[in-house]
Amino acid sequence: MINKDGFAIVGCTKCRRMQVADLSYATKTCVCGNKIDLAKTKLLAVVSSADAAGELLRHMQTAKNSGFTSADRFTQSDKKMD
Ligand SMILES: [Zn+2]
Repeated sequence: MINKDGFAIVGCTKCRRMQVADLSYATKTCVCGNKIDLAKTKLLAVVSSADAAGELLRHMQTAKNSGFTSADRFTQSDKKMD
């Protein structure tokens, strides 16, 4: 028996949106319509429950400027309030 329980955080290869994927399925369809092949996509994190995955995803989205968002957009709008 192959143990495919759990949920993974994956990034869409097309729109780069991060989302929770149920690992009991072979693919995850993104909101942009792109089918993410879970066997070929890098799993950013794997957790045992959907709740934990959702929570983790929120944390990762909060810290998104470290990875998935293009950095050159941030340099221009990096204003400090004073
Ligand atoms: Zn997408």
